[in-house]
Amino acid sequence: PRLANQIAAGEVVERPASVIKELLENSLDAGATRIDIDVEQGGVKLLRVRDDGGGIVEDDLPLALSRHATSKIRDLDDLERVATLGFRGEALASVSSVSRLTLTSRAASADQAWQVETEGRDMAPRVQPAAHPQGTTVEVRDLFFNTPARRKFLRTEKTEFAHLEEVVKRLALSRFDVAFSLRHNGKTIFSLRPANTEQEARRRVATVCGPAFVEQSLQVDSERSGLRLWGWVGLPTFSRSQADLQYFFVNGRMIKDKLVAHAVRQAYRDVLFNGRHPTFVLFMELDPAVVDVNVHPTKHEVRFRDGRMVHDFLFSTLYRALADQRPGDAGA
Ligand code: ADP
Ligand code: MG
Repeated sequence: PRLANQIAAGEVVERPASVIKELLENSLDAGATRIDIDVEQGGVKLLRVRDDGGGIVEDDLPLALSRHATSKIRDLDDLERVATLGFRGEALASVSSVSRLTLTSRAASADQAWQVETEGRDMAPRVQPAAHPQGTTVEVRDLFFNTPARRKFLRTEKTEFAHLEEVVKRLALSRFDVAFSLRHNGKTIFSLRPANTEQEARRRVATVCGPAFVEQSLQVDSERSGLRLWGWVGLPTFSRSQADLQYFFVNGRMIKDKLVAHAVRQAYRDVLFNGRHPTFVLFMELDPAVVDVNVHPTKHEVRFRDGRMVHDFLFSTLYRALADQRPGDAGA
């Protein structure tokens, strides 16, 4: 099983950023309202995620680290309507096969916490008593310490951390109701309180995307025949030199989709923001029955039942909002 886990790890665990994604999704699946992330050396030396979710009962702790052990699917029907983020039951097994992993948890129902530790070794972990408030802490040390070939593919600490931070940002934007904090080498990168009002949501976007984006963007909120689009679209005064600032969420999940990208680009172009790279943080909500977001667990693709309607809706909403802002066109 260790080899199988390491092979599986090749698919799920590419770098610290992929580990953090799995850990954060688990915390969210467990109903966490606050998640604290501690990282050292870009995540290669240490990744620690602590949450206040439902926790894991003693008997389930070793199971959580074994392959295909998921508490999230019980039958095929479940598989078809997975609402949770993770469902393959592979992530922790994979990560634990290529790192030194400690899992500490206290279930809501338990009067004490328990811990399991693995060292990439092929043995059943021993469960030991521990101190921990309700919730779970996963500590991943020395990623790829036993798979040097994979370790060689890691980039600089700075690059690995940038990838990791991007993952945290995406998830922080997908769950305004959850508090997130991120520290790197002992320094706080950001600390986000739960954002329950529009004002607080705006503040979170400013923290995550930079205040300039929020100041130089247009807020949209539009609804038509079961589709809702809300969020922020950067105006042409906002220019961004480095990385993309393009976040699109469908029913709370970040996606990258050609149809969506096309609709946004076209709206930008038609309002004469010629050649400009669109910037946006947008949320689309629609009936889950008309969209398939599980096309591939690690890609961010999505399939709409009626792609044309979605495209038209996105285009016309953004076009109208942007056109209203076009200089010289005020009030048109
Ligand atoms: P999956 O998420 O696909 O079920 P994982 O390997 O990511 O598989 O996790 C295995 C199991 O461990 C989960 O199904 C869940 O029961 C438990 N688990 C992992 N992380 C947490 C957490 N932070 N809080 C509560 N339970 C967790
Ligand atoms: Mg998972």
